[in-house]
Amino acid sequence: MSLENTTIFGPATLVGDSGITVIRVSGKDSFSIVSKVFSASMAELTRIDLTQFKNHSAHHGYIFDGNVLVDEAVITIYKAPGSYTGEDVIEISTHGGSYIYKIISGLLSKLGARHSEPGEFSKRAYLNGKMDLVQAEAVADLIRAQTDKANKLALKQLSGEFSSKIKELKDDLINYCSLLELELDFAEEGIDLVSRKDLLQKIESLISRFEQITGSYQSGKIIQHGVNLAIVGRPNVGKSSIFNYLLKENRAIVSHIPGTTRDYLQEPLIMGGIKFNVIDTAGIRKTLDIIEREGVRRTEMKIEESDIVLEVEDLTRPNLTADEYVIGVSNDKIIKVFNKSDIVHGNGSKGFSISALTGDNMHELQEKIVEKARSLIIDAESTDIIITNQRHRDCLLKSCEYLVNAKNQIISGGGNELISFEIRAAMDALSEITGKVTNVDILNNIFAKFCIGK
Ligand code: GDP
Repeated sequence: MSLENTTIFGPATLVGDSGITVIRVSGKDSFSIVSKVFSASMAELTRIDLTQFKNHSAHHGYIFDGNVLVDEAVITIYKAPGSYTGEDVIEISTHGGSYIYKIISGLLSKLGARHSEPGEFSKRAYLNGKMDLVQAEAVADLIRAQTDKANKLALKQLSGEFSSKIKELKDDLINYCSLLELELDFAEEGIDLVSRKDLLQKIESLISRFEQITGSYQSGKIIQHGVNLAIVGRPNVGKSSIFNYLLKENRAIVSHIPGTTRDYLQEPLIMGGIKFNVIDTAGIRKTLDIIEREGVRRTEMKIEESDIVLEVEDLTRPNLTADEYVIGVSNDKIIKVFNKSDIVHGNGSKGFSISALTGDNMHELQEKIVEKARSLIIDAESTDIIITNQRHRDCLLKSCEYLVNAKNQIISGGGNELISFEIRAAMDALSEITGKVTNVDILNNIFAKFCIGK
């Protein structure tokens, strides 16, 4: 895959009201471009040959637009290949503020650099062999991590630990393939280098290893993206009040008028060190109102996507009205609560009662939710791999399918060529995880999910 010759730039920090903004410039012309705007003197633009500076050194100076002083700045020098992207890189630290950024980015563009696309620095790092795909993806995960667990998982992937486990699996497959293919050379002599029984056993144990790894995705997804917690129930039972209570803010409109929440609201929340995506859904009832009906449809969709469903009942209205009904939810997802215990007391026999108004039992409810969420996450200590990325899971599933084909070939007495064909296909699918992605669209799609400047 060829690399573009362009020099790119982008903000490495958020642009806006802040102490400093770091603008990263990467590509073969970074030194010459920055030398046209950077001066050691505040009085005028005196050109310096930046290539003379030592690698990984920082230099104080000033940014000029022609003869006009723009800002005081510090530049940091990274010479290829000793940089994040593997190219010549200069990081310009200026004062924060969107105006300064606008002026300097205009200058860089005028001098021939191009504004980077999301993830383009990381994509260049990958294409220049600075990191494999898993590591590049871990950078994005690390930036997004909001909990200790998510941070640790991303760091583990960044360190190359996951990549080396994938390599171990690949080495096993290469081994079997080589033996099978070598055996073909000795076919006439009738020499068996690998017994079918042993091979079958090995392939079967690899299949169960693959299943164990892909099975970890459920936990990985939850750790990385959060537990989807949907609050559902009939209109007016107190769903929005519970949502607001959990978020500690009046995010959703609370009203005694049924049908107020017509669409779902979703907000992130950290509880017990776990990230949750808390969803307040539209109340469930039969309605002719087209917008409310769409709300109910979306509620059903959210229930489907949820890891935990908080089903809310109203102690003051135990019976369904003619237009109300209950959506069937798989039992193991549900935490059922009876709200408004401040009005109707002594309902212990009914189940877990709370009051979103007074806060009664709300702390206990939060504990229940956290406990349920913990039960969905496998202990990171108990397994060597937890995958967090759907792409990795899909590649592993594809690879596993080929292994199942290989297993069936062995059982049905298929020839070496057929068995090794399937094993090779399994190997290729595995290789896609860490790299060797030749499809530009797939690659672009991976990096498009990154933020600008990374
Ligand atoms: P939703 O339609 O299920 O989202 O219900 P809301 O949260 O909008 O609440 C409906 C009505 O019930 C509002 O008037 C709330 O003030 C009231 N409400 C909610 N929770 C409680 C509670 O725990 N106790 C009492 N007394 N009223 C509540």
